Amino acid sequence: MSRMHSPSFGVFATLLATLPVGHVAAQQPVATDTSRPVVLVPAAVWDGVAESPARGWVVVVRGSRIAAAGPAGRVEVPAGAERVELAGTTLIPGLIEGHSHLFLHPYDETLWDDQVLKEPAGVRMARAVAHAAATLRAGVTTVRDLGTEGMADYDVQLRRAVDEGIVPGPRILATTRAIVATGSYAPRRPNYAFDPPQGAEEASGAEQIRGVVRDQIGRGADWIKVYADYGWGPDGKAKPTFSQEELNALVATARGAGAPVAAHATTAEGMRRAVLAGVATIEHGDAGTPEVFRLMRQRGVGYCPTLAAGEAYATYFEGWVKGKAPPPASVVEKQRSFRAALEAGVPICFGGDVGVFRHGDNVRELELMVEYGMTPLAALRAATSGNARLFHLEKDVGRIAPGMLADLVGVEGDPTRDITVLRRVRAVLSSGRRVLMP
Ligand SMILES: [Zn+2]
Repeated sequence: MSRMHSPSFGVFATLLATLPVGHVAAQQPVATDTSRPVVLVPAAVWDGVAESPARGWVVVVRGSRIAAAGPAGRVEVPAGAERVELAGTTLIPGLIEGHSHLFLHPYDETLWDDQVLKEPAGVRMARAVAHAAATLRAGVTTVRDLGTEGMADYDVQLRRAVDEGIVPGPRILATTRAIVATGSYAPRRPNYAFDPPQGAEEASGAEQIRGVVRDQIGRGADWIKVYADYGWGPDGKAKPTFSQEELNALVATARGAGAPVAAHATTAEGMRRAVLAGVATIEHGDAGTPEVFRLMRQRGVGYCPTLAAGEAYATYFEGWVKGKAPPPASVVEKQRSFRAALEAGVPICFGGDVGVFRHGDNVRELELMVEYGMTPLAALRAATSGNARLFHLEKDVGRIAPGMLADLVGVEGDPTRDITVLRRVRAVLSSGRRVLMP
C-alpha cells in the first residue's frame, strides 16, 4: 500500500520525537500505548478467507492491531485483558468499499448537476462527514473514494480529519478529482448560460495529463481515477475519450509515484485501452465482452461492477420498480456482463458507486453480487481479503490474523451463508477503536 493514514498515537509520538526539539511545546502530551488489551468473544470468527466461520474462537486486540486469533483454549490471553462478550455474532474483517463518492448523495434527492453547481462547499463537506460516519457504522472500515465531483481535494482533507480522530469515518483512499478528456464530461456546457465548473479535471495530450497526475499526487491523492470513456460527441453515446497513448502516459506517471489507477469504462474498447495501459481496476464495465474480461483476467485487473448504481439509475431515471416490472435493458446488460466476468475468472471487486445511492447502504452491492450469480462466501471474500489485495492493503487489512489492523465487525448470524446478515451489524472496531458495541 502507498500509505496507511492510520490514526495511531504511536505514529504521532514518533512524529513528535523526530521533530527538532524547539518545535515541540513543553506541555504537548507524549502519547504512549497504555491501552488495555481486549479479548473479543463472539459466537464465531470468519477470517476473510476460510470456507466457513470457526466457532469458539476469540480475538485478542492490543492497541490498533490484532495480537492473536484462534480457539479460546489455545489463545494466550494477556494478563489484565478486558473480556468483551459478543454473543450471537460472527466476527469478520471490516468491509472494504471499492467505489464510493463521499461527496455525493442520492440523485433522487438532488440531481448530480445541481449537487455540483448549486451546493456550497461547506454544505458538501458537512454531508461528507455525515456520510463517513454512516459508512463506518455499517461495518465499512476502508473506502476507496473515486472522485470528489466538484470538491477538488477535499477528500484529502476529510481523510486527515478522520485520521486525526476529529470525525468518525472509514480509512479513506483518496483520488481528489477524476481525470477526464477535455470536453467529454459534465455539467454539459451547452445546457448553461455560463461556463459551468466541471465535476472532474480536464486534460488533453500526454504532456498535460502527466502534469495533472503529478499535481494530484502532490495534493495527496493515493489513487488516480480516469475516465477511459464517457457518453459524449454528437450522439451522446458512450465511446472512448482518451487515446491509448494518453492512457499509457497517465498510468506510467501515476505508477512512477506509486499510485495505482482506477478507470471508469463502460465500453469494451475503453476497457481494453485502460487494461493495456496498466490500470488496477475497471469500474462499471457494462458492455464488457468475454474477450476483454479474459484480457483482464490475464493481467490481474479487478472488476468493480457497480451493480447497485446500475439498479439505482434504472429506478431513478427509467421508472423501474424492481419486483413489479421486468428489468430494463440497462440492468439486463449489467447482469450479462457480470456473468461474463465471473465466467472469465476476473477478480471481482466490491464497489457499488455508493453516493449514487445512500451511504451506509453499501451492502446493497453485495446483495446484488449474490443475486447476479456469486456465492455469499465469494462476495464476502471480495469485500475483505479480495479488495485488500486489489488495493495493495493486504498487509494491514482484509483478514483477521495476528499483526493485522483491528478492523473488526460483529454481525448477527453467518454472512458466509446469508449475505443479508451484513445488515445486522452489532459491533464495529476500527484500528482497535470501538465505534459500535452491543
Ligand atoms: Zn463512481
